[in-house]
Amino acid sequence: MTETTSPNTSRTLTDVKPLVEIQGVHKFFGEHHVLQGIDMTVKPGEVSVIIGPSGSGKSTLLRCINLLETISAGRIYVHNDLIGFREVDGKLHDLTTKQIAAQRREIGMVFQRFNLFPHKTALQNVIEAPTQVKHQSKSAAKLKALELLEMVGLSDRANFYPSQLSGGQQQRVAIARALAMEPELMLFDEPTSALDPELVGDVLEVMKKLAASGMTMIVVTHEIGFAREVGDTLTFMDAGVVVESGNPRDIIANPQHHRTQEFLSRVL
Ligand code: ADP
Ligand code: MG
Repeated sequence: MTETTSPNTSRTLTDVKPLVEIQGVHKFFGEHHVLQGIDMTVKPGEVSVIIGPSGSGKSTLLRCINLLETISAGRIYVHNDLIGFREVDGKLHDLTTKQIAAQRREIGMVFQRFNLFPHKTALQNVIEAPTQVKHQSKSAAKLKALELLEMVGLSDRANFYPSQLSGGQQQRVAIARALAMEPELMLFDEPTSALDPELVGDVLEVMKKLAASGMTMIVVTHEIGFAREVGDTLTFMDAGVVVESGNPRDIIANPQHHRTQEFLSRVL
């Protein structure tokens, strides 16, 4: 087994089987060929950052991993589990609703809009899924939720309603809520894009902490600083394809493809 230390963090990426394997994934919306053969792998503990222009298919890719969309061709594996299908003798069969729910439970997702339950407090938002879906006892879920709220720096906001929290605080509750299900993979879809600039840092700080704790993360973001500092891999997508992928520092300093160069010159 070879070991490589991530240049960006102190974590070690061992040469183990990827946690996420995306193989030749295509997605059509009607005639619109939105994902045109995506290949990507993410190792356990890796922070994989995806950048690219609006409409390039970044959200669709995350949504396919999280079973919010069904792929048109290809395969996605998370932890050796084929996502969205059951394969029997080379043939794919749809999963049952129950099987889909089980796969989705393993994957946490944080969206651009925080979409917390508005009529529930921060704490109630965090314990909702563990108690309703995993049938944890309320007291156990509460204990864990308070730990998570502390991790995201919101111990003193547990009993606040979303409307009483800033966008950045709401987003940190959303992160705690996703973590409460103890996912093995976290997907972030432009988690700071809807925030006022002064609130972005706190959310990125939480994500950095999560990365340092060893969480496997796929992060779609325009925060190039985050990509450089925290990312282990940077993937540039454009028009439904991966244009280039590699070490974030190398790509940011020395993009190989003119489309990457052009995109970076616009966001840097
Ligand atoms: P990105 O996140 O990179 O901005 P998206 O994945 O959201 O890109 O969208 C890629 C393309 O797919 C866009 O042209 C978008 O309009 C289209 N698209 C996304 N979702 C749907 C949908 N549910 N139905 C039809 N077209 C969609
Ligand atoms: Mg998007």
